[in-house]
Amino acid sequence: MTEPVSASAIDSADVVQAPGYRGRFAPSPTGHLHAGSLVAALGSWLMARAAGGEWWVRIEDLDPPREVPGAARHQLATLTSFGLVPDGPIVFQSERHGLYRRALERLLDEGKAFHCHCSRAELAQCGGVHRRCIARARRRDPSVRLRVGDDAVVAFTDALQGEQIQNVSTAVGDFVLRRADGYWAYQLAVVVDDADQGITHVVRGCDLIDSTARQILLQRALGVATPAYAHLPLVTDHAGRKLSKSEGDGAVDANNPCAALARAWRMLQQDQQAPFAARSPAEWLQAAQRCFDVSRLTNVRKTAPPIATNSSRS
Ligand code: GLU
Repeated sequence: MTEPVSASAIDSADVVQAPGYRGRFAPSPTGHLHAGSLVAALGSWLMARAAGGEWWVRIEDLDPPREVPGAARHQLATLTSFGLVPDGPIVFQSERHGLYRRALERLLDEGKAFHCHCSRAELAQCGGVHRRCIARARRRDPSVRLRVGDDAVVAFTDALQGEQIQNVSTAVGDFVLRRADGYWAYQLAVVVDDADQGITHVVRGCDLIDSTARQILLQRALGVATPAYAHLPLVTDHAGRKLSKSEGDGAVDANNPCAALARAWRMLQQDQQAPFAARSPAEWLQAAQRCFDVSRLTNVRKTAPPIATNSSRS
C-alpha cells in the first residue's frame, strides 16, 4: 500500500503573514455570482490579506455547454463593484489550451495517462470507478485518464476542515483529464493553472474538498508543488441544497454591495458586532480586513446555516 503522504499544510497560525502567499478566486461563468460564490471570493480575499498576500482571479470557462453568455463579464463587474480587485492579471482558461495540451502530452509520454474507450454505461457496472478498460468497442474520440495506482491514498491537512484522507483508487479510480467530447477536465486545468500561476493557497467552497486528493495526485504526476488548502463552509438553501449559479440561486445584489458583503461576513462566522459604518465597499473591506479572525472559521462544520434564496433577504 502506498504510504499516505501529507501535502503541505497550513494551520491558522501559518495564515498570519505567510511570505509569498498567493491566493485566488476561480469562478466558472455558469451564471451570476451568488451568495455562495461571494463567500468564496470574500473568504479567499480575507485569508490572502490576513497573510499579507496577493489575491488573483481566474475565470474557469472551459465548459461551453454550461457557460452562460455574458456571465464572466458580469462576475468580474460584480467583483469590481464589491471592491474585490485582483492583484494580478485576470486569466481566462479558454485562452490557455496550449498549457493543458502540453501537460497532457507529457503525462501520456511518461505513461502516467492513457486513452480510454470505456463508456459511462460500461463503467456503471463498476460503480463508475475505472480500474481497467472494459470497453467493448473503440471510440473515435477516447477520453484520457490519469493512471491511479492501487491503494493511492492521499492525506492532507485542510487549514479549516482538518485532516483529510481519500483512497483515490477505490473512491474515484483512474480519473478523466480530457473528456470524450474533447473538453479539458476541471481537474487537469485547475492543477495546471494553480501551478503555472504560482498559487500557494487554495481557498474555496467545501463542495470541492473531494476533488483535492485527485488534484494532489495530479500535482505529483506533473512534478509541481502542492498548494495549501482551506475549504470554506458551503452556503445552502433551506432544503440543504448548495446554491447554484447555473440555477440562478440568490444572485448577489450589486446595487447594495455592503449589505451583500455583510451577509458573506456572517457566513464566514465573523463577529457580527464588528462596526462597519462604511460608505463604500472599499471602506467596508478595509474594516473587515482589520477585524477578520480566521480562528472563527476553523472547525466550522462544512455547511453554513441556510439562507433564503430570494433577493428580498437583507
Ligand atoms: N470553478 C470552480 C467553481 O466555480 C471553482 C474551482 C476551484 O476553486 O478550484 O465552482
